[in-house]
Amino acid sequence: VVINYAQNEKVEMISQVAASLVHEVRNPLTAVKGFLKLIRESALERDRVHRYIDICVSELERTEYILSEYLSMSKPLKDHQESTDLRHLLRATLEVMRPYANMNNVGLEEHYSAGPVWILANPEKTKQVLMNLIKNAIEACYDIPDGKVSLDLTATNGKATLIIEDNGIGMTEDQIDRLGSVFFSTKSKGTGLGLSFSYQAIRAMGGTVSLKSVHRAGTRFTIMLPLSEQAAG
Ligand code: ADP
Ligand code: MG
Repeated sequence: VVINYAQNEKVEMISQVAASLVHEVRNPLTAVKGFLKLIRESALERDRVHRYIDICVSELERTEYILSEYLSMSKPLKDHQESTDLRHLLRATLEVMRPYANMNNVGLEEHYSAGPVWILANPEKTKQVLMNLIKNAIEACYDIPDGKVSLDLTATNGKATLIIEDNGIGMTEDQIDRLGSVFFSTKSKGTGLGLSFSYQAIRAMGGTVSLKSVHRAGTRFTIMLPLSEQAAG
């Protein structure tokens, strides 16, 4: 049952961010087309041609990366755990969610620990949890001028701490009480499955979630996960 509703929620979530990805992929394509035309139509020095080609390659690589991450997230969940770098998972998820933030006029701020953050986890599930929380934070900023989501990842004392904070609509006491129950949603297109799946997944990894939310001011989620043996040495 857990896997099933996680899968449904994922399909829903993946389809909700698809439109922003399509939109975002257009930009690099337009840029690459422009540079290729320039290269063909004008007599440019070799150096400049090389520079333009480098820009095209890096634009295409970034696009390829976003699309392959997106596709890997839409595959069915496998049930396994491995030592995995939370910092890397967070970066990959953010690349997929950045277009969604752009489309909603929400700024993203990121602060990372210096090195990798090893945890024992199912990487696909963890990315889904991150995507859920980041997506909720972005959606909380809907219609808020200067909407901002900030992410902060640190690793100390055997624990990874991830803070996801937004300056969006926040929650009332009553909403906070109902948070994480299946099908609780305040959104017209909401499933109310994202958080309950995420809470379960975090608990299964031996982690904890706490939150502080102020109605009409914003919300801060704090996720703590045990670092894996590899990191502890
Ligand atoms: P959905 O996003 O489909 O509504 P979730 O389980 O992800 O379902 O979230 C449930 C509800 O929790 C949301 O509808 C919203 O009311 C509330 N919520 C979650 N995250 C936030 C947040 N960052 N700010 C404000 N409300 C939130
Ligand atoms: Mg959600």
